Amino acid sequence: MRLGHLLYGLQCVACGSEDRLWADYEWNLIECRECGERTPLTPEISEFREAE
Ligand SMILES: [Zn+2]
Repeated sequence: MRLGHLLYGLQCVACGSEDRLWADYEWNLIECRECGERTPLTPEISEFREAE
């Protein structure tokens, strides 16, 4: 089981860092490794994950 999955090509809305967002599918949220900002996992990002 993977606890985190790096989301390439996504930008943090808080600090603007790219490729620093981790999707936590257990908690259904995304966390920024750069600034620690957490946002809920959205359907758009779920689609992004499947497209990868
Ligand atoms: Zn950030």
